[in-house]
Amino acid sequence: RTVYVNGDYLPETEAKVSIFDRGFLMADAVYEVTSVLGGKLIDFQGHAARLQRSLGELEMISPVTMDELLEIHHQLIARNDLDEGGIYLQITRGAGPDRDFVWPDPEEVKGGIVLFTFAKKLTAGKSLDEGIKVVSMEDIRWGRRDIKTTQLLYPSFAKMQAKKKGAADAWLVEDGFVTEGSSNNAYIVKDGVIITRQLSTDILHGITRASILKFAAEAQMKVEERPFTIEEAQQADEAFATSATGFSQPVVEIDGVRIGDGKPGPVSRRLREIYMEEMPKTAL
Ligand code: PLP
Repeated sequence: RTVYVNGDYLPETEAKVSIFDRGFLMADAVYEVTSVLGGKLIDFQGHAARLQRSLGELEMISPVTMDELLEIHHQLIARNDLDEGGIYLQITRGAGPDRDFVWPDPEEVKGGIVLFTFAKKLTAGKSLDEGIKVVSMEDIRWGRRDIKTTQLLYPSFAKMQAKKKGAADAWLVEDGFVTEGSSNNAYIVKDGVIITRQLSTDILHGITRASILKFAAEAQMKVEERPFTIEEAQQADEAFATSATGFSQPVVEIDGVRIGDGKPGPVSRRLREIYMEEMPKTAL
């Protein structure tokens, strides 16, 4: 693979970053994952806008402009001949002179940036046909989940716990209510109404979530943005999760309780169909 590191396109085996990079030492970094379908970027504008917001909230400065960022994405797609999969992008606060809790002056220390592609079949698979099982886990992440940082140890830990229990993901619960999945936004459907937690600092503002809710409204589906409990989810007609690389992923079991008839539901299937039809039209 050809990857991008701080201005250079290199074979992945030659790509290097400093051991003093704050992304490595302190997870002082933000990231984005954009999906690629038919060699084109799905919702690049949404991801670029969220990236700028994440950077702004942490007083970080991007080492590249958003136009340059789009060009880098296109170069990597071309150089790796990528048809379907995604692009991972990470911007760190850079490498300070020492390991210091105080941020270095952004005028003196430039941010670090790496991007790499990954090929992956996103449009089909067992988990889409059959749905996935999830288990609940307490949400003990920090309180600014709206900023897409690389502090992913707890989500990773939660996913491992889920795996040990024979499930594919964890739905995180805070004060009795589901916040989101380990790397996706969570939804239930009851009597035709789509229910998903409202935006706040408690969850990541999913780019896929925004598109899915827009398509749901356009299709005259009812949406309620409010918190729900695991018990309510277990009694729902269907459940699903959204993310850039998972689109709309059906969930058929929560903490061992089957949702609806235990098969992917019609609402998540319909939303996925609309998403797959509409998003390539605006792909870059
Ligand atoms: N919530 C969390 C915690 C995530 O990590 C992600 C994606 O990585 C999402 C939600 C979904 O966001 P998006 O649709 O922008 O991929």
